[in-house]
Parts: sequence; structure tokens; C-alpha cells
Amino acid sequence: MNALPCEGCRGLCCGPVPITEQEWKRIQKQIKTMPRKIREELENQPRLFGTCMFYDQNKDRCGIHTARPEICRSFGYHEDLVCFRMPQLATKGKFARKEKLVGTLSIDFTWKNL
Ligand code: SF4
Repeated sequence: MNALPCEGCRGLCCGPVPITEQEWKRIQKQIKTMPRKIREELENQPRLFGTCMFYDQNKDRCGIHTARPEICRSFGYHEDLVCFRMPQLATKGKFARKEKLVGTLSIDFTWKNL
């Protein structure tokens, strides 16, 4: 799978994302095992309104990369999740999920819930 040109995009596609219960549990686990200093640094970064609470402004990348939700992993490769810098990678059909969604990151689930 070709990699997306995320560098320099400053998390433009990282908005509030809908998640499943399992995804939230995985995120909670990752945050719990994160060194305190790194967690605090990530938590207290100023972000633009609408930017995902886990986007790391300082490192220009996802702050929870290994635990990121499926929609983030699928971004750029589906016709309804197109990366404007590399639209030719969006060759798959509509993004579909089997599991039930329980809420949206940054809206229903925030740092206060961690
Ligand atoms: S979880 Fe990571 S990849 Fe997904 S929107 Fe947030 S910062 Fe971006």
C-alpha cells in the first residue's frame, strides 16, 4: 500500500472521528501506558478548533498512531475518504464498518474521560 504524504499537512484530515467501543478501549490503554511527560505534552498542546485531540502539533503526526481508529487507518484509500494531496490512492469503495459506533473523539470522548 502506498504511503500518504502526511508530512507537512499539519493534521488537516485529523478532525473529530467516530469510534467504536473497542477503539476507545484501545486508546485508553495506550494513554494509560504512555509516559506522563509525553501524555501531558500531548494533552496540553493548543489545537485549532476541530483538530483531533490526539494530533501531535509538535511532531506533525498522530500522537496515538498504533492505537488510532480504523477510519484513520483507512483514510486516503476509499472513495469517501480522499486525501486531497493524493486522490489517486482512493481506489476502494465506500468505507464500511460492522461494529457499532459509540461516539466521536474530541466531542463525546475528550481528555477529561482519560
Ligand atoms: S487519532 Fe490520530 S490519525 Fe486519527 S484523527 Fe486523531 S490524530 Fe489523526
